[in-house]
Order: sequence, then C-alpha cells, then structure tokens
Amino acid sequence: MMTMQQGDPALRPDDDGGPSVPGGAERGFFGKIGDRFAPPRGGQSLPLAAHDALLLLRNHEDSGQGWFWSTDADGRIAYLSEAVADQLGRPLGTLIGQAFTTLFLPADSAAERQRSLPFLLTRQSKFDGLALRAAQGEECWWAVSGRPQFEAGGRFTGYRGSGIDVTVQRRSAEDASRLALYDSLTGLANRFNISRRLDTTLTTFAPQQRSCAIMLIDLDRFKQVNDTLGHPAGDALLRQVAERLLKIVGDKEMVSRLGGDEFQVILADQDDRGKLGDMASDIIASLSQPYSVEGSRCIIGASVGVAIAPFDGMTSEDLVRNADLALYAAKGNGRGRFRFYSSDLHQSAEDRRALEEDLRDALVRGEMELTYQPVVRARSNTVSGVEALVRWNHPERGTISPALFIPIAEEANLIWTLGEWVLRKACEDAARWPGDLRLAVNVSPIQFANPDLPRVIAHALAATGLAPERLELEITESVFLGDSAETAAMFTALKGIGVRLALDDFGTGYSSLGYLQSAPFDKIKIDQSFVRGATQKGSRNAAIIAAIVALAEALEMETTAEGIESLDQLDLIRKLNVSHVQGYVYSKSVANDELIGHAEAGSWTIAPAGPAKQRNDRFQMFRKIGAVHGNHRYTVVMRNLSATGAFIEGMVDVPVGTRFVIDFGEGQLATAIVRRSKKHQQGVEFEQSLVADGNGGLCTRHRVSPYLIAAASQQTGGLSLPTFTTTSDWAEN
Ligand code: C2E
Ligand code: MG
Ligand code: MG
Repeated sequence: MMTMQQGDPALRPDDDGGPSVPGGAERGFFGKIGDRFAPPRGGQSLPLAAHDALLLLRNHEDSGQGWFWSTDADGRIAYLSEAVADQLGRPLGTLIGQAFTTLFLPADSAAERQRSLPFLLTRQSKFDGLALRAAQGEECWWAVSGRPQFEAGGRFTGYRGSGIDVTVQRRSAEDASRLALYDSLTGLANRFNISRRLDTTLTTFAPQQRSCAIMLIDLDRFKQVNDTLGHPAGDALLRQVAERLLKIVGDKEMVSRLGGDEFQVILADQDDRGKLGDMASDIIASLSQPYSVEGSRCIIGASVGVAIAPFDGMTSEDLVRNADLALYAAKGNGRGRFRFYSSDLHQSAEDRRALEEDLRDALVRGEMELTYQPVVRARSNTVSGVEALVRWNHPERGTISPALFIPIAEEANLIWTLGEWVLRKACEDAARWPGDLRLAVNVSPIQFANPDLPRVIAHALAATGLAPERLELEITESVFLGDSAETAAMFTALKGIGVRLALDDFGTGYSSLGYLQSAPFDKIKIDQSFVRGATQKGSRNAAIIAAIVALAEALEMETTAEGIESLDQLDLIRKLNVSHVQGYVYSKSVANDELIGHAEAGSWTIAPAGPAKQRNDRFQMFRKIGAVHGNHRYTVVMRNLSATGAFIEGMVDVPVGTRFVIDFGEGQLATAIVRRSKKHQQGVEFEQSLVADGNGGLCTRHRVSPYLIAAASQQTGGLSLPTFTTTSDWAEN
C-alpha cells in the first residue's frame, strides 16, 4: 500500500481554506484516496493526481453529500469531516481523540444490538450502510460504512470509512410504513395491521387456551351523510367516530378502521357475553349521539357483530367471517343493534340473500299488501285515522314483517319503488273510504332524502283525489341527519303540499326535543319501548312522556302512544294526557275490506281489550335441550325461559333442590337448581343469570371452550347418582 508523506505540498488541505487535518490522522486516510488515484501500474505517487484527489474529497465533504472518518486501533477518532461536528454542534477539535461510538445514540433494541457499532468494532468487522442516529443536535440519521485496516504484518491499525446523511429517506420510509399500517384519516390501525395483529394474537393464545373476541362495527346511514353533506363532512364524521370508539375501547392498537364506515375491535381475553353485550351497547349508544360536523348537526347509528375465539372460530379468517355474519344479522334486525355469532346465522344470511332476490320481483308479482291499523282517540275510543303497514305475502314463506324486509329494501335500493307503490296504493284506498279517516304512511329516510319525494306525493294525491290534509307522513328522527338546508327545504316543500307530518318512533333514537321547535310536525308518536318502560318500577319514562305531552300541546301537536297492549298501559297513557293510542289493546292492523266495513257503519269506536298487565318477558317456546345430572344426559323440552330460570318438561318426579347442568347447545351450559317440581314439569333457577343475545333472546355469559369439551366428556364415568324417569319411559309404561 502506498502512503503519502507528511509535508508533501499536495497534503495541505489549508490550501483550500478548509480545516487542517490533525497530524497523524491523515496518513492512512489520504493514503486510501491516493490509492484510488494511483497510476495503474503503481510504483510512485503522482503529486498532481493526489492533489486533485484531495480537492475532490474536500468538494465532496463540502457538498454535504457525505463525510469521512478514521479511527486508531483503540477506536478513537483520528479523522472526521467537519460536517459531523457541525451536526453535533461541537467543535471538531473536541471530537478528535474521542471514541468513535460516542458520536451516535446507542441501539435500543436487542435485535439492533446484534449489529451495533461497538459490537462490530470490537470484532473488527467491516460494515456497510449501518443506520446510526446522531448523539446530539436535531434528529439526524447516517448510513455509516467502515473498513478495518491492517498493517502488512496483520496488526489491526484502526478503521477508515464514510457516512452519508439518510434522515430524509429514513423519515419517508417511516411515513411509508405508517401509511402501510395506519389509516391516514383516523390514525387508527388499518385493515392489514389489525388482521396481522389478530393472527398473532390468536396464534399466541391458542396453546394457552385463552379467548379473544372481535367486534365488527358498521355505521348505519353513513352513506346519507356523505351524499347530503359531502365527503369532507363524511371524513370529519369518521374521525369523530374513531375518537368515540377509542374512548370506549381504550387500547388504541386494538381499534382499527377497515375501510369505508367499517371498524374492527380486538378484545383479548374476553369471552363474557354479558360484558361484551354491554360494551357493544355502549358503542352503539355513543356512536348514535349527534355529531357536529362543519357546522351541521347529524345523527347516524351503528350495528355491531361479535365473534369470540375459540368458540366461534380459531383462525382469524373464521372469526372475522363469523363476526361479519353476526353484523349482517344485526343490521337485518333493524339496525342499531348488536348480535353474537351463532351457527344458525349461516342459514339466516342465506335466507336474507334469497329474500333480497325475491324482493326484486315481489311488487310486480303482486305480493305486497297494505293493512291498516286504527289510531284511536284515547278519551273517546273513536278511530281518528289509520296507519298503512305494508305486508309481504311470500309464496313460500307466508307473511313477512316489514321490520324484516324494509331494511333489506333500503339496502338493495328497492325502497324507492316500494315506497312509491305504498303511497299510491294507500291514497287510492283512502280516497274510497267512507268518511274522512286520516291516512298515515311511513316514509323511509332514504325516500326523505330524495328531492323527488314532494313531486311523487303531489302526484299520488292528484291522481287519487285524496285531500292533502288527510295524508300524514311518518318519518323517524334519523331524517334530522344533518340539519341541512336540504332537510329544511324538504319540510317546506311537504308543508307546501298541505300534508301532515308525524315524528315516528320517538324515544328510540337520540330523542332531542330541540328540533321539535323548528320542524313542522303535527304529531309525535311515542315508541312502544318507551311506553313499556314507563310502567316499570323506578322508570322515569312517565315523567318524560308527561314533558313531551306538555311540549307537544304548547306547540299544538298531537301525541300518539304506540304499541299499547295492556289495560294498565292504556290507563297510564290516559293519565299522562297522550291524545291518541295505537296498539293491540284497540286493534291490530286490518285489511282494507274490513276497514271499509267499520267506516261504513259511521263513527268507528273500539272498546279497549287486553291483558290487565303487560306479561313479563318470558319467552314461550318449545325447544329440545339437554339436562345433565351426574353421568346422565336427559333430553327435555324447554317451555319457557327467562334470564333467571326456565320451565322444563321431560323428567318425572325430580326432587326440589336437585342440581342440573342445562345444556343449551353450542357450549352453552348453565347450572340450574330445581325450585318447583310437579310430575313431569320442573321450574329451575339458574345460578348465573343469562344475558341478552342482541336478538331479543338470551344466551349464557360464558361458553364451555372447545378445548374443555373433550376433557369433560371423559370425566363423567364412575359416579353413581340417582337417575330420573323420563316422560318417554313413562309413556311406554
Ligand atoms: P311503525 O311505523 O312504528 O309501525 C308500528 C309497528 O308496531 C307495526 O309493526 C305495528 O304492527 C306494530 N304494533 C302496533 N301495535 C302494536 C302492539 O300493541 N304491540 C306490538 N308488539 N306491536 C304493535 P309492523 O307492521 O311490523 O311494522 C314495523 C315497521 O316497519 C313500522 O314501524 C315501520 O317503521 C315499518 N313500515 C311498515 N310499513 C312501512 C311502509 O310502507 N314503508 C316504510 N318505509 N316502512 C314501513
Ligand atoms: Mg309508523
Ligand atoms: Mg313507530
């Protein structure tokens, strides 16, 4: 190797006005440069070429594109470009002689330490592009390369190397990886990120037999916000949704936006369906509170599907697919609900898809029918009008409730045609009724958002000759979505036609009395759930109903209580001065012909009739389940079920106090104790109450893990416990 001599004129960097290189250090370093500019066949250095080389080196250093360094055998800095000292904010002189490693921050992870600078230096390894962060000053990253130097005899003399500033590249790489893992709109984990996380969680949890729940959350009516208020408003709304979700879930890394208006939450070590149901309800309640976006107020809703590993799936694909099915079912149940996955949902999802197909042709095939439910004046029991309720007479499935198919029609873009038909048919019928009964027609929020609605209504009225003041449109609170100019214009247009407006289902969504003052309603319909609540002990609903009635009276609106079934409810409603009642206590909906019969007879009066009290919420049923006692499993029939107990049939003369394990299937076991026993019927009480399944039914809080089922089935033998005669034995005797 050729080295240049100190004192050589070519070795005076001062010539260039740069800093002088401390003695000794330059030897090795310049030698390397000299090497590169040495004549091809070597032998003797060319001072001119060496001088050029130095100038090039200095230019390179000055350009800021890179820097050079060298150390002695102890790793102390012998040469360093000025740029590094500048970056660190220290005079170059104070750095020379310091350990080279002090220029950088130490590596902070174990993985990085494997390739850390001190490690490489002590092993005298060569390295390339090692990413190191400056120890001081502003955040700065360098890619540092180094070559160990050896004397002819093999003795290690130190390092020589170079470095380049890679801060910008590093930042954009970080940004890129952020983009790849996080949703840029909400800052939540993105789909890729969360599915990877779910994969790792499930793989780690499986051998430890730990549970993990996921929730899929889908916003209801989000599309409307986007369509009416614009995409920037939609984006702002999604950000607020993300914030509310985070508030409830807490763990930021476990909440993600999958895209559009779909979110996913991972809840590790959670299999308590009571708690999960509570959380899902909290999420729905929170996301259904009004939002303020860009000066507009808007309301959306949310539906939640829940699946829990290992019960509902062990792999992330299975779990997500099943949570998705549960979500689909939750939406089909009328939105704003949660639903736990259960295996029968596969069938219902198929059914629903089939229904959607059938729905497309239902109108043309004449399968839709209107029925009319009387709305009765609470004081006089006289019918003031009727509400048109659509029914679908399905050729195979019989009558299908609008609560089931209206949401499908809304999603499948069929609601407009259906709604137009309902309006037209109802007006036609009403125009022929004797007398002047009012006609109420339900209008979907999707119809309400269509600027064409006033024209369609005016047309239906003109074509049938029905007086506008006899027609009442029922709309739900969700139309207040975005107190937008469009909403106001729609109200004005409808009032311009002369029809009446009723606010339907008051008390189910976010019930704000505020907009009642500005919206031109003629009637408020108080939802049945709200009235039912009012008869329960400790409920404040009665006081709220009284307030609504007072407000309505002040604003000259009527009030209707919906879904009144029992005489005690009717009594309460009358006391609260609600002006109208609609419910089974007077009449279910009737066919047009029956209605005409009543109307022809003159003033239509109905005497209220029904149970004295609302029956408690026991589910009447006939369902085969298992009752396990000792090493016997009996098949029994469950006749009714409440959260705290059940009535079962199928075993004879079981002593009071006997303990059973009731097997509802799918790993749902509940310990129950017999409280009443009469021949073949037992009333059993559960040790732990059942919880709501999100579908109006009940389920056990916990399930027996598939891991345990095999183990448990091996433990039953050996014990000799009394057995009971079953009714099937009994019938044979
Ligand atoms: P809604 O407008 O609140 O209608 C009242 C619902 O309560 C009707 O259910 C009615 O049969 C039921 N109901 C009335 N009295 C009682 C009672 O005492 N006890 C109980 N348990 N239920 C009672 P239906 O006919 O199943 O309709 C459900 C919903 O479907 C309606 O709720 C309405 O939102 C929607 N709907 C019905 N027809 C149409 C329609 O033509 N267009 C649109 N867009 N929606 C409709
Ligand atoms: Mg209605
Ligand atoms: Mg209603």
